[in-house]
Amino acid sequence: MTVEVDVRTFPLFINGTWEPASNGETFDVFNPATGELVARVAKGTEEDVNKAVEAARNAFDSTDWKNMKPKDRSKVLYAISYQIAAHAEELAYLEAISSGGTVRRLGGNDILQMVDLFQTLAKFVEEYPFSETLPSPPFPGPAHNFIWREPIGVCAAITPWNLPMVIATWKIAPALAMGNTVVVKPASYTPLSTLKLAEIISQVVPPGVINVVTGPGAEVGETLVKHPKVDKVAFTGSTDVGRRVMKLAAETIKNTTLELGGKSPNIILEDADLSLAIPGSLFGVFLHSGQLCESGTRLFVPDHLHDAVVEQLVKLAGKIKLGNPLDPATDVGPVISKKQKETILSYIEAGKAEGATLVCGGKEAVVAGCENGQFVEPTIFINVTNDMKIAREEIFGPVLSVIRYKDVDEAIRLANDTIYGLAAGVWTRDVNKAYDVSRKLQAGVVWINDWHMLRNDAPFGGYKQSGIGREMGKHSLDAYTQVKHVHTSMVPEIHKRNWYGLLFSNTNE
Ligand code: NAP
Repeated sequence: MTVEVDVRTFPLFINGTWEPASNGETFDVFNPATGELVARVAKGTEEDVNKAVEAARNAFDSTDWKNMKPKDRSKVLYAISYQIAAHAEELAYLEAISSGGTVRRLGGNDILQMVDLFQTLAKFVEEYPFSETLPSPPFPGPAHNFIWREPIGVCAAITPWNLPMVIATWKIAPALAMGNTVVVKPASYTPLSTLKLAEIISQVVPPGVINVVTGPGAEVGETLVKHPKVDKVAFTGSTDVGRRVMKLAAETIKNTTLELGGKSPNIILEDADLSLAIPGSLFGVFLHSGQLCESGTRLFVPDHLHDAVVEQLVKLAGKIKLGNPLDPATDVGPVISKKQKETILSYIEAGKAEGATLVCGGKEAVVAGCENGQFVEPTIFINVTNDMKIAREEIFGPVLSVIRYKDVDEAIRLANDTIYGLAAGVWTRDVNKAYDVSRKLQAGVVWINDWHMLRNDAPFGGYKQSGIGREMGKHSLDAYTQVKHVHTSMVPEIHKRNWYGLLFSNTNE
């Protein structure tokens, strides 16, 4: 049962119903573009986490949800996709007013991507090898053998604030597709769209299959990760918190996937078509004000193209229009918070102090009509070396570091000289060079003459400290299943079971 919700007050979503936090407390959610209070959200407690996990556990253990036939499950996934499309406007609005994502991006990409994800997995589920029969080999002897793929159980999904809805669906969609149940813990800056999403999904799944507990990561998140009745943790966020999640999950040996930070290298080769590479590189770093984990934040440019490339980058970056995310004319909205803005500005100061040269932006921006918002100008540094702080650490803001190189081997070596390995890119007209460089780049996705092109039928995830496991594509279905081998002997007579002789010297008696 669901109840009407005051738009400014969002309770927890547990077992198909809205509930206040057990102690009645709430926290405030602000619009980063205007500074306005947009919602009060239930501040979940350990008791609330226990309740949500119990609901998810019960839905998994005591209902037919996990045994649904693939064809029927596929229909559920299609039904969810139609629900998302039907509520597109409200979802996009809730996300824009809390995350600062532009309605242009949310409507033109995120909602479509979510609808397509559920539909893509709906197709995959129908073909998924839930049960495979193995051939009967001579060793160890005649037998009938299956491999069954089964759901894992209760999955905890912990999500960040940059793409709250999209990243929640990267976890919810494959979890439901495989028959699991879910408890989501969204980021405290941006819980609104995830709560709405859960309500929408609950229209087509049994109570307890999807639950959302909002509240601080260190309490709600950690309680979930440690909970003995949670079987899997899927976390997206910073590498530091990911490390903590991995340690906590280890206590109960939980199946864990981690999607973490990045410092993605973007290489312009000498023969690149600059009419593509220049706007493409800016698109790669400044979309959503640089708050995308796979942003191309380190741009490698050959020595002799450097000045021409920089001139064009600066000229085009100057045309990016900052504004209210609700205005369709806005190119880039605010950063998520005052704290994040200050972090970004402190990285800009560090860049200057280490000897990098600022050629574009570099300051807080004041946007007419959004004077209380948190905006940072699209910023470009040149004379950056790969050992500087701005080239090594994830800034998660609109800051591009341009790094010169002499030859391709040097560019690849510098590109890979990072603890991260989420994404990488190369701009060239030569397909052989493109594949050669792509092979050598250590990253979970490589874009050739493009950026940000994630597909719902392709895996996404990190090399090195950018994470463990993959989301989207068929790989994500594997990540929400466990594999069981079932053996039936086809040898009824004990004396013909030669292998029993390993223990019994005479099986004829
Ligand atoms: P974050 O600080 O690591 O938080 C991520 C989530 O974890 C939030 O829901 C947070 O809750 C929760 N959390 C915090 N401390 C926790 C703890 N001790 N135990 C369990 N959960 C805890 O990251 P963020 O600032 O929201 O997001 C930005 C980061 O996410 C960047 O590093 C970015 O690269 C990364 N990211 C990666 C991907 C990818 O696919 N690889 C995609 C997007 C973003 P609270 O909000 O309540 O603190």
